[in-house]
Amino acid sequence: MRCAYCERPLMCAQCGAEYVPPTPEAYAAVQACDVAVACPTCEEILVCRWCGSVYDGTCEPGDEPTGEWTG
Ligand SMILES: [Zn+2]
Ligand SMILES: [Zn+2]
Repeated sequence: MRCAYCERPLMCAQCGAEYVPPTPEAYAAVQACDVAVACPTCEEILVCRWCGSVYDGTCEPGDEPTGEWTG
């Protein structure tokens, strides 16, 4: 799926795994940023590898992507 913030493929910043929602409900919840999402691979709170947005269930309107990924 795509990051709700930067619309790039949603990949875990910790381990690099692409996040695949297990259910349509999970997909909708992640898009709405209203639930905490843990990476199924490393079990850390999911952080977008590209824009650094943290999927901890606290959506922050106006949270703009901050520049290019330099990794
Ligand atoms: Zn992102
Ligand atoms: Zn991970």
